[in-house]
Amino acid sequence: MKKAARANWTPNFSMERGQFRELRLEEASSISSATETRGSIALPASMKITRILGFRVLVPLKGTYPSYTMSGGRTADEFDSTIVCVQTNSGIEGWGEVIPLGASYLPAYPEGARAGIREIAPALIGADPTQLGKINYKMDAALCGHPYTKSALDIACWDILGKHTGLPVSTLLGGQFGNRIRLYRAIPIAPPEDMAGWVRDLKSQGFVDFQAKVGSDPVGDIERIKAVIDAMGPGGSVYADANGGWTMSQAAQVVRAVRDLDLFIEQPCQSYEACLSVRRRFDNPFLLDESVDSLAVLQRAIGDRAMDAISLKVSRLGGLTNSRLLRDVCAQNGIMMRIEDTACTDIGAAAVCHLAHSTPEHMRLAASLANSRLSFHTATGAPEVSDGCAWPSDKPGLGIEPIRSALGEPIFSCE
Ligand SMILES: [Mg+2]
Repeated sequence: MKKAARANWTPNFSMERGQFRELRLEEASSISSATETRGSIALPASMKITRILGFRVLVPLKGTYPSYTMSGGRTADEFDSTIVCVQTNSGIEGWGEVIPLGASYLPAYPEGARAGIREIAPALIGADPTQLGKINYKMDAALCGHPYTKSALDIACWDILGKHTGLPVSTLLGGQFGNRIRLYRAIPIAPPEDMAGWVRDLKSQGFVDFQAKVGSDPVGDIERIKAVIDAMGPGGSVYADANGGWTMSQAAQVVRAVRDLDLFIEQPCQSYEACLSVRRRFDNPFLLDESVDSLAVLQRAIGDRAMDAISLKVSRLGGLTNSRLLRDVCAQNGIMMRIEDTACTDIGAAAVCHLAHSTPEHMRLAASLANSRLSFHTATGAPEVSDGCAWPSDKPGLGIEPIRSALGEPIFSCE
């Protein structure tokens, strides 16, 4: 398919609308707001995106356990974050973030996120960032599919809308339910005694909900699940998350062995159809994660009664706009939700927290925020984590202020 003018990435390329060039920090523009007149009424001039900056930040993890490990030997001990700054002619700028969590978790990878943003950015120059529906149509027209590449840009535009209106993003997404977000912690797949020890350590920090990573040998996984539940004690929730690592027969073996325990079975097999097959054989609560990546799949899963709960990951769905849509559909259909993202630093954590905060409390399960596990921060004002909960911001927009020294030099600029 032939496309209109394609962005050029040559450094110091001649400046035209929608073209990229390398950024010089000292070139920060000072653009004042303006008004336009319709008849005799002076209205604020429509806001326009004037420049999009991209940053890459590698953030090592710290905390109770050394690395984040799931089925198939997939491990992460640092986050490869892509952060965008969307600047406007009003002087307001918005921030967003995407971290695909390596290249083997979802059909997404960090360099893909950056390539997608470079592809989309020229189409957004001159667009009004406060018109989120139009922004998303423009992004879909510029790049078919690849929703995760649109997430950071969408989040940044919500940040701008919030700052423009003086409202926190949670208000724009529906309002605040409660004053805190209960969190869970993922326990990496490891020998059962190690997993039980990490649970006890995290309990002492106030966490009561845990996700036990499984999806390896069924006999070992049964022991892992029982060890985590024993260490957790009463009062919390456990998700046995295979991350698609079991075959249908392996999943059946494990689910049959734990059917009398109080826990969710999470994404037992890779495909939606295999998960559904296992689901139909047992009555344990089921949670789907990786395999629900669009409204179309969610609608099918609701029709199939394929799950009791779902993990809504903001970037997998393409940002806050799409996540809000799926959130509201789930709420209307009685499906409990874990609101989270594939990974996040402080900027992404703020976006997750606003979406969770605007989700009715009786519909949301514990959420996951990784920003308290980072070796350094990328922004101030992000949700504080204490006593197993996150405390949302009530400041306009996302309520965060990026720490520019932590972001380094931008790796691209489009204007
Ligand atoms: Mg999961």
